Amino acid sequence: MLVREEKEGDMAREMMKAGVLTGPRQIEIRRAPVPEMAPGMLKIRVLACGVCGSDIHMWMAGKGWSPEPVEDFHMGHEFCGEVVDPGDSDFRIGDRVTFWANLYCGECDMCREGREQLCREVRGEKYIGFVCNGGYAEYFVGKAKNAFRLPDTVSDVAAGLIDPLMVAYHAVRRSRLKWRDKVLVVGSGIIAQLVGGLVRKAGASCLAMSKIDDRQTGKAREIGDFDVYLDGNDPDRAAKMREVSEGGFDVVFEAVGAGDALAACMDGVKPGGEIVLIGNSTTPAVPFELNRAVLREISLTGSVSCTRKEFEETIGLIAGGVVDVERYVTDILPLDQLQYAFEKQVSPDASVLKTIIRP
Ligand SMILES: [Zn+2]
Ligand SMILES: [Zn+2]
Repeated sequence: MLVREEKEGDMAREMMKAGVLTGPRQIEIRRAPVPEMAPGMLKIRVLACGVCGSDIHMWMAGKGWSPEPVEDFHMGHEFCGEVVDPGDSDFRIGDRVTFWANLYCGECDMCREGREQLCREVRGEKYIGFVCNGGYAEYFVGKAKNAFRLPDTVSDVAAGLIDPLMVAYHAVRRSRLKWRDKVLVVGSGIIAQLVGGLVRKAGASCLAMSKIDDRQTGKAREIGDFDVYLDGNDPDRAAKMREVSEGGFDVVFEAVGAGDALAACMDGVKPGGEIVLIGNSTTPAVPFELNRAVLREISLTGSVSCTRKEFEETIGLIAGGVVDVERYVTDILPLDQLQYAFEKQVSPDASVLKTIIRP
């Protein structure tokens, strides 16, 4: 609810509740000013916001990615809401919209080619909720060009999974996956599982997951897209992978962002195969066995975010019932429990796969 706070000699500023990142592993629910409108912007009342692995990284570090401090910094880039002020845009009050977090410029060569995920301005880091305030609040103001109308068949909770699904969708489209290929996904988080779901639909003949524990595999086993689960910590994993795939996997997706996960990909991929790199590493460099890639002609394909067109297509995948993303949700919590949501996600015995916050 909007509350007017009177300040002496000052214009009344609208205030709202926000989950402010105040330090390492510390979120406080505070009263923060409602962001101000500007030309080209629209204001929404946030209805749902997904908790992402990159939020966990910022939470642990106690800061966002902006070099300059952001007032009352609150994260959240997987959100939807209801338009309360359309500004000068074509949206109307009451429209349900989601925002694509990518703050692409729309003018550089990459943007003009329709490869907005590679925008020269963004450089893989200029995203809503990373460098500016995001959706862990009652209200959000953002550029209308980043907003997309949601069909009625996409629920608020489902909208919280558009962001991870677009990452998975882009990665699968970036790959050279063909009908009846054998596929290995390294990782067990939400991206890994969504990649598996899409790969299954794309006609893989064998779909395996390499994971290091079973904290998050409950949903995957329930949904049943993966044929086999492999222990990434098994010293004989390379032999097991060869056996399961009868000689190696055609396409391997890395959805962790760590040196050993990349090594597991190298163990699983067949000569001439492809590794698609999705995971972001928190350390600047990871070891890599160069000759194993060169002498076996392994293709390495990076994948980040998606194009603007693919973002729209991702909404269509959910709206059309191609992927039932709500099945992957394990927790739905109010904004007041944001700190708890983060603590739960990192606790060693929790089985959180996807949390949706409902402000
Ligand atoms: Zn995300
Ligand atoms: Zn650009």
